[in-house]
Amino acid sequence: MHAEIVSIGDEITSGRLLDTNSQWISERLADLGIRVLYHTSVGDDLDACTGVFRQALARADLVIATGGLGPTADDLTREALAQAVDRPLVLNQAALAHVRGIFARRNRVMPASNERQAFLPEGAQVIHNPNGTAPGIDLTVSRSGRGESRLLALPGVPAEIDEMWRDSVGETIERFAGEARVIRHRSIKCFGAGESQVEAMLPDLIRRGRKPSVGINASKTTIILRISAEGKTVEEADAAMASTITTIRECLGDLVFGQDDDELQDAVLRLLEAKHATLATMEWATGGILADWLGHAKSAAGQYRGGIVVASQEAVARILDDRDGTCACPSDSGEAVGRMASQCRCRFDADYALAVGPLPGANLPAKEPPAVVFALAGPERVVTYSHPYTSHPATVEILCAKSALNFARIALLSALPDAE
Ligand code: ATP
Ligand code: MG
Repeated sequence: MHAEIVSIGDEITSGRLLDTNSQWISERLADLGIRVLYHTSVGDDLDACTGVFRQALARADLVIATGGLGPTADDLTREALAQAVDRPLVLNQAALAHVRGIFARRNRVMPASNERQAFLPEGAQVIHNPNGTAPGIDLTVSRSGRGESRLLALPGVPAEIDEMWRDSVGETIERFAGEARVIRHRSIKCFGAGESQVEAMLPDLIRRGRKPSVGINASKTTIILRISAEGKTVEEADAAMASTITTIRECLGDLVFGQDDDELQDAVLRLLEAKHATLATMEWATGGILADWLGHAKSAAGQYRGGIVVASQEAVARILDDRDGTCACPSDSGEAVGRMASQCRCRFDADYALAVGPLPGANLPAKEPPAVVFALAGPERVVTYSHPYTSHPATVEILCAKSALNFARIALLSALPDAE
């Protein structure tokens, strides 16, 4: 069995509105073990909507549509649906009572146009919409020789969809799907190697048709391995992917920093928490990204003390208390960035401080090959690392911030002793 999601509205096809309904519904359907084969978006045009409904009902077992159920002239879902299944629109008393009831509850007179919302294709059932005026439509049509297909049309407002799903739609679909299968997904996240390098480190896991399936993709140099497994229950699906996850973690070792919605800052903060240690940052190349990420991390529990953001050599000199320029080292040298880290550590009275030097070309003599210097000052020593600079200018700050966090992660994992 497979499903199609149809989102309706010029707002979507014009690009003014991102179609988050299709994403949200796809996730709910995946939880119910239903595969979504198509997302279709269509503007507010009667013929276009009719054509999309006809096609969707012909090729999918389950069609979920959102939008266009309002009372105005551009809300065409009811008419398009009636044309697509070749049935008249008829007044549905339950729907009319619902729309009237909503207006009565709000102490408002119902405009005549809202009556349109009570006209549904013949044979359709009303899907209760507890807090919106637009009732949903539940329609079953038979396909010649190929059983029935079911269409559920919901309003466009995400909060109403959410409520209707919990109220009845989720259960309706579960029943329709018969013996529901659960699909579970897990992401293992890595940093420090390229996509193909990671793939080469794994046994033959990323092949079509493998169960559980393993996919690989990169998002701004974070490599994500996505594992999906099916089962009758959540426990069964989780058990089906357990050994694949173990294999991946064993093969990739310290390249793996976390899973699912973990980011590198979460991994660093977790390591600090385990060491009962605190961290401060001083950043130049990354323009405050580290302070932002560490300050807003979901796993933050007081380990991050704060950060200094600098944008020029003069600012660095002031922080290092080197106003008369007696420190001869350029501020992108390992020594200078190491001093940034040490100073920062003292100023914040933190156990560790991570410093990021400037990007190549920040009014400093060019270096070959271009590199950004990171330094981590700890209770006993300062380690520095010269990170080759190869990124596209559009993403360089983010990639530097990630690389700096990964440098700190690896240093905390292996090299540096615990704080007292
Ligand atoms: P209403 O009675 O509110 O007019 P409707 O069923 O006619 O309901 P639309 O007019 O199509 O729904 O959409 C109402 C609002 O819901 C949109 O302005 C938009 O904010 C939101 N919305 C609609 N479709 C989507 C979508 N696919 N993804 C996210 N939001 C959406
Ligand atoms: Mg509308």
